[in-house]
Amino acid sequence: MQRIVILGSTGSIGRQALDVVMKRPADFSIAGLVAFSNREELLRQAEATRPDFVCLVDESAAKQLRDDLGSTASATPTLLTGEEGLLAAAAWEDADTVLNAVVGGAGLAGTLAALKAGKKLALANKESLVAAGKLVKRTLEESSGSLIPVDSEHNALWQCLIGEKDSEVARLLLTASGGPFWGRRPSDLADVTPAEALAHPRWEMGQRISIDSATLLNKGLEVIEAHELFGVDYDRIDVVVHPQSIVHSLVEFVDGSLKAQLGPTDMRLPILYALAWPRRIGPVLPAFDITTVGDLTFESLEPGWAPCFDLALEAGKAGRSYPAVLNAADEVAVAAFLSGMIRFQDIGNIINHALSEHEPIDIDSVDDFTQVDAGARASARQAKVS
Ligand code: NAD
Ligand code: MG
Repeated sequence: MQRIVILGSTGSIGRQALDVVMKRPADFSIAGLVAFSNREELLRQAEATRPDFVCLVDESAAKQLRDDLGSTASATPTLLTGEEGLLAAAAWEDADTVLNAVVGGAGLAGTLAALKAGKKLALANKESLVAAGKLVKRTLEESSGSLIPVDSEHNALWQCLIGEKDSEVARLLLTASGGPFWGRRPSDLADVTPAEALAHPRWEMGQRISIDSATLLNKGLEVIEAHELFGVDYDRIDVVVHPQSIVHSLVEFVDGSLKAQLGPTDMRLPILYALAWPRRIGPVLPAFDITTVGDLTFESLEPGWAPCFDLALEAGKAGRSYPAVLNAADEVAVAAFLSGMIRFQDIGNIINHALSEHEPIDIDSVDDFTQVDAGARASARQAKVS
């Protein structure tokens, strides 16, 4: 029986993880749940899973939750609050596994705290690896913890690499659905609305990653994530557009052989894999009938089609603090796009502005990250838009 803490339990990945956990009561139980401010959902989740603790990072929402908990008849979980609450949650003694499903750079603190406490970390928060990959890897190496990627492409690559030698890997091939605008010309996208950009053809996800999938910035973050996680150079990581999202990624070996991982388009599969690792258990999903899938197609992604992807690759190759700036500027730009303040194409312009103003440093601590993150946000807010 594994005791699990979920950071970001009220989000898209968090809710799907709870579904997985509740389908396998003999294997998993919930030690604690952390969210930012959604107390109604957190309360519902706590009633269903009876955790040791719940945590709301937002202090005023937490105050309200204290009253709610006081009025419930069932055994009351401990209430943690604030950023310290999240850190205590990630290091909770009576837990084996931490699933980090927080969105954005805010997830870095939980990643580091879970690894330092020697936990098995199921990592959905790709921003931790993008913004501070070297720091996360060093913390992992110095700890007794482990890190298993939940992001479907990296989870696929991880599975394909088992039993293989680093020296025999030629290339990593990340698949990309292409997002809602694949097949359209970049010049036709200037006036797309947030609703159109949020309507992903294959995956139901949180708002930020949905917009990042429409700009393909997400795929750029994932190339950086793969580089940091697997230690493979950028010139040996490629992206192929595969609109059906059935092949979740591939590894090419020096003999020319390709290994791929396939499965339904459902994040509960990589979540289950990461939570159960190093075992395989289940299933938690209906059987996947490959005869119903139809054609699987693969196309190349041409430079220039997705400016945000190109910027991400440049930032990744430049290294040091550039990927943290990329992430922070994108968070600001996506929020501005969702609130109707800027146009779709301005997302890339804002990121470009923040990257070009940046003076890089090495990110060796959370303080370094915080400083770079704040600077990039300020710079992104000052960018001129069309
Ligand atoms: P989401 O917006 O649906 O949920 C985010 C969660 O994080 C919520 O529970 C929210 O309360 C919490 N949160 C937000 N800010 C916080 C803060 N400052 N402190 C603590 N908690 C905070 O996002 P999502 O789509 O579930 O994505 C979560 C992570 O998983 C992201 O890093 C994303 O890139 C990654 N991911 C998501 C998917 C997907 O299918 N949704 C797939 C692959 C990777
Ligand atoms: Mg992914």
